[in-house]
Amino acid sequence: MVLGVYCFRNDLRLHDNPALQLAREECDQLLLVYAFEDRLWRTKKPKRISAHRARFTLDSLKCLEKKIIKLGGALHFLHGNIESSIPPFMEQVGATLCFVSDENAWEEKEAEDELSRMVNLRTIYSKTLLHLDDLPFDLEALPETFSNFRKLVEKQWIVRSSLETPDTLDLSPNPVSKLPNLRELGFNNPPAPPSDYYRFEGGTIAGRKRVERWIWEENCILNYKNTRNQLQGADFSSRLSPWISNGCLSPREIYWEIKKFESHFEANESTYWLNFELLWRDFFHFSARLHGPKIFKSRGIHPERPPITEPQNAGSLFSQWNDGRTNDLFINAMMHELRKTGWMSNRARQISASYLINDLGLDWRKGAQWFEEQLIDYDPCSNYGNWLYLSGYGNDPRKKRHFNVAKQAELYDPEGNYLRDWVRVQNSPISN
Ligand SMILES: Cc1cc2nc3c(=O)[nH]c(=O)nc-3n(C[C@H](O)[C@H](O)[C@H](O)COP(=O)(O)OP(=O)(O)OC[C@H]3O[C@@H](n4cnc5c(N)ncnc54)[C@H](O)[C@@H]3O)c2cc1C
Repeated sequence: MVLGVYCFRNDLRLHDNPALQLAREECDQLLLVYAFEDRLWRTKKPKRISAHRARFTLDSLKCLEKKIIKLGGALHFLHGNIESSIPPFMEQVGATLCFVSDENAWEEKEAEDELSRMVNLRTIYSKTLLHLDDLPFDLEALPETFSNFRKLVEKQWIVRSSLETPDTLDLSPNPVSKLPNLRELGFNNPPAPPSDYYRFEGGTIAGRKRVERWIWEENCILNYKNTRNQLQGADFSSRLSPWISNGCLSPREIYWEIKKFESHFEANESTYWLNFELLWRDFFHFSARLHGPKIFKSRGIHPERPPITEPQNAGSLFSQWNDGRTNDLFINAMMHELRKTGWMSNRARQISASYLINDLGLDWRKGAQWFEEQLIDYDPCSNYGNWLYLSGYGNDPRKKRHFNVAKQAELYDPEGNYLRDWVRVQNSPISN
């Protein structure tokens, strides 16, 4: 009898999970585990996960656990990095094979490599909308710019079908372990968000409810291309990123949902545009996979470009930025929104990042690290990829992208509503 271990990482779902499918095929019995990795959960300065994301992840695990219990199994919780917690666990239970979803970011890949030296490990790819093996070029030949990438993949657009949730899993009776709560993991409750639309609930069920509402009930997708650059509101963009980032939803299930909507109702530029944004995500993921540790270095994938020279008071400028105490109220509003809710629109992310890089003259990695700590939808490839892109050391032919903050405020907050809302919050204490 083959006993295997399936370790969930940023793929917190049973459906559309090819690694789990392979594990089912290759093992007579499976043990399902999630490891609270020290490299994420035990970090202090800087913290790599906020209370918002910690709470969202715990919700997601709770939802996953319930689904597994319904199938007659249990989710086992380990503590420690996968390479240190899985091998002794496998030895203890007598498992001979381990399965994980293949990640694209460097640190996660290093952990996979380390684990594969210790146990019989199978990694299976499913991270992106387009499968790595379906790209019309080798990864080494990934175009340097998004527009060239897009031109090539759009000529030969293959999206594999999304896999159903398995009806049964041959689950081994697990040794029982309990899902820890926020406090046990060292977090306080996150600050209460000022509006309901910031209340992201983790888990596949809540993620699918959002898809249902945004696409099918409110038909917001039909106008997405016109609304997506807004700063404020419940529905101007899909707000699916938290579920996509931790894998409660897969990008390709969203793609197929949109196709279904298009065939039932209408296909327009906006319905296309959501998938176009998912292609940006793919691009940053493939780029991270190709460039490995480079995307975390100050000169990124362009070490030949001039280095960053920070001003002498870089430390205090950075604290002013992240505390929302700069000379610019619009930027301060964004930084308060981020801290208080764990979320910001794409436009606000771009403007506040450009301000740190161009107006304050700071190393982009300071900002990227802050976003890593704060964002509820943090994803290493999307976060570091976007920051690097804006900094002029990444996949952008135009070197630095400098946003004129006053102009952006005029364009995207002409009545000053966003600013007013967050200035009000500015005066109340923030703690997380
Ligand atoms: C400096 C900076 C840092 C960012 N950090 C992250 C991050 O850590 N995690 C993250 O998921 N996104 C990140 N983004 C991308 C983008 O801002 C968010 O994905 C988006 O705002 C999430 O909201 P939404 O789900 O409503 O997006 P929608 O506009 O509805 O887009 C749908 C989906 O497409 C993907 N997407 C959209 N835009 C981008 C983009 N520019 N890059 C990559 N994927 C994209 C996301 O998965 C998103 O959920 C960052 C952008 C910037 C400028």
